[in-house]
Amino acid sequence: MSETPPPLPPCPFQKVFPSQLLRDDAFYMWLAYNQAIDAWRQDEVPIGAVIELGGEVIAAAHNQRDNTHDPTAHAEILALTQAARAIGNWRLNEATLYVTKEPCPMCSGATLMARLKRVVFAVADPKMGCLGGATDLNLLPQVNHHLEIERGVLESECRDLLQAFFRLKRAEE
Ligand SMILES: [Zn+2]
Repeated sequence: MSETPPPLPPCPFQKVFPSQLLRDDAFYMWLAYNQAIDAWRQDEVPIGAVIELGGEVIAAAHNQRDNTHDPTAHAEILALTQAARAIGNWRLNEATLYVTKEPCPMCSGATLMARLKRVVFAVADPKMGCLGGATDLNLLPQVNHHLEIERGVLESECRDLLQAFFRLKRAEE
């Protein structure tokens, strides 16, 4: 017999729908933010990712670690798999990944293995971030491929989401 978990408090944040006319880094990060809200609505840590190629979104995903019982089901990994499938090529060297939190060791490694052109993230992670937060895999001296990195796009919005989620989680316990 498993106990029914208590009902989730609803996510207090709303999705944001940016104008389609200006497709800048903030535009794509808002889409990643919306993915993070979807994660929260499924009681997952709110981290979202999208991948852009040629001005189009070819992948959008959010963290699904708890629901899938899969430690690799991070937003970035799911998005990379989707993107590679969408273009029929594991090399994503013209694509940009937008993610609401700095990638962990696994996901930072995956961005290099996918040979992404750019990675844009919102919130740096000094504990586990491996694109400059805790360490920087992009600086491995023997690796030929290097990513362009952009940090801090919609940082406060994405940080608020994460902090509010963990505050509510702690209050539940
Ligand atoms: Zn990760």
